[in-house]
Amino acid sequence: MNKAVFLDRDGVINRKGSGYYVFREEEFFLNKGVSDALKYFISKGYLLIIITNQGGIAKGIYTTTHLEKLHNYMIQKLKAFDIVLTDIYYCPHHPDVSQCLCRKPGTLLFEQAIAKYKIDPKGSFMIGDSQIDIQAADKMKIKGILLPTNGNMMDIIEAGKI
Ligand SMILES: [Mg+2]
Ligand SMILES: [Zn+2]
Repeated sequence: MNKAVFLDRDGVINRKGSGYYVFREEEFFLNKGVSDALKYFISKGYLLIIITNQGGIAKGIYTTTHLEKLHNYMIQKLKAFDIVLTDIYYCPHHPDVSQCLCRKPGTLLFEQAIAKYKIDPKGSFMIGDSQIDIQAADKMKIKGILLPTNGNMMDIIEAGKI
């Protein structure tokens, strides 16, 4: 069985502004401490799995092509620090448009990742900046850690939470 750190994207990995969706490279900035924190998690044997709600797709603000291009950009940026993400899961739905089981606090994306990568929820963590991240983690018996939006993940490590 593997252990993983599940990560929300916006407000955790990259800077989240208010009132807009991040889908352009020029609006994508890694938050402080991200590279050091992810390297630390890798050194401790955790898989790194991003689980992100991207309701802007359902709303027609951007497309899955935009999103996947941005994710490739994120992957390249992290690779420069020798960080390899295990996988990225996203929910493209939005309750204003259509219901689904994958949008956090729904757990479908967690269930898929856990099955695919043989992850033991016990001993795994979810870092998110929203209560919905923590609620989803709770349902899966994954320990949720709330980070202030655009907070420094090194604070979590320095506090001994992981
Ligand atoms: Mg977030
Ligand atoms: Zn969904």
